[in-house]
Amino acid sequence: MQRPFNTKGWGIIGASTIAKEYMIAAINAQPRSRVVAVMSRSPQRGRMFASEHGIDRYYSRVDDLVHDPKVDVVYICTTNDRHKNETLAAANAGKHVLCEKPLALTLHDARAMAAACRSAGVVMGTNHHLRNAVTHRRLRALIRGGAIGQPLAARVFHAVSLPDHLRTWRIKRPEAGAGVIFDITVHDTDTLRFVLDDEVETVTAMSTSQGLGVQGIEDGVMGVMRFKSGVLGQFHDAFTIAHAGTGFEVHGSEGSLIATDVMTQRPVGSVLLRRDGTQESVTLGPPEDLYTRSVRVFNRAIAGRGKPAATAEDGIRSLAVALAVRESAQTGRSIRVAYT
Ligand code: NDP
Repeated sequence: MQRPFNTKGWGIIGASTIAKEYMIAAINAQPRSRVVAVMSRSPQRGRMFASEHGIDRYYSRVDDLVHDPKVDVVYICTTNDRHKNETLAAANAGKHVLCEKPLALTLHDARAMAAACRSAGVVMGTNHHLRNAVTHRRLRALIRGGAIGQPLAARVFHAVSLPDHLRTWRIKRPEAGAGVIFDITVHDTDTLRFVLDDEVETVTAMSTSQGLGVQGIEDGVMGVMRFKSGVLGQFHDAFTIAHAGTGFEVHGSEGSLIATDVMTQRPVGSVLLRRDGTQESVTLGPPEDLYTRSVRVFNRAIAGRGKPAATAEDGIRSLAVALAVRESAQTGRSIRVAYT
């Protein structure tokens, strides 16, 4: 396809599954963006990845990719321990950054990443895909419009079976940022914050390692978040539960919203509204691929129109909650979330 003159070149750091399965297509789906380079530590994997996905250039050093003049935006999708240095390198080279979640392993590092992008005058976003779903956006609009009165409680069901091809660092390498809390609880947190338009103040959680996570890495977690408004949010995340299905519910003083099959990477799912003793199926807008919307909104933000769907600050906040959930599970105490 002929691309417009001002097409933005995206460079991908990490020959990863998420890039392969969703993000390359999402970037190339936009009329004004195109993946032009990929970086992998392994030149062989980089070459194969570039050739399989029609990417012009591959590099094996971060510095080479971020200094490629054809790269305007860097998408970071390596293991979680690598995000910080890669973001700093991109920001120092004056490139915009869309970074995967969790942004980093510590709040200090995540804040340093956001600060580096801010001082370089580049846009930074977090790839929390779920807030791009038509279902979650509809839930937020309904709640804002008063459809269920005052929100009182939320429940998130996000316990799944980790696909075989992802049973690598997530369940084996603590130093890479393994475990279900960094993998899934961050997404629950971001979606709850977005739908409820509220902030988590305190968390209580218990985690478990039921055979998939090695060295005690948690592969299941349940807990409760108390929000600033007083809403209680219950969550269940796992790598080990194959048949539960996913869901997201908000129960208010005047009604309940029940969303089914919505904690997923695909643009699917349904929403029911129950109130006054009746139940109606909520009409949703046309579905759009979640990652395509994330990139579309990011491209708009770098053109000076609005913010990324999830900002750097959103990524910092979901990480802060995940860290508190982990601390609660480790200590058996309720933890007040530290955002600074
Ligand atoms: P992968 O395990 O597929 O890849 C992670 C990194 O490992 C790659 O960047 C690559 O780096 C290296 N790698 C890839 N294949 C191999 C291999 N065969 N042998 C050794 N190393 C390899 O990770 P995911 O795609 O699952 O996750 C990447 C990031 O994206 C994480 O931060 C994760 O949390 C996030 N994520 C976000 C999702 C979302 O919906 N927002 C969904 C899934 C993941 P290199 O090429 O440089 O060696």
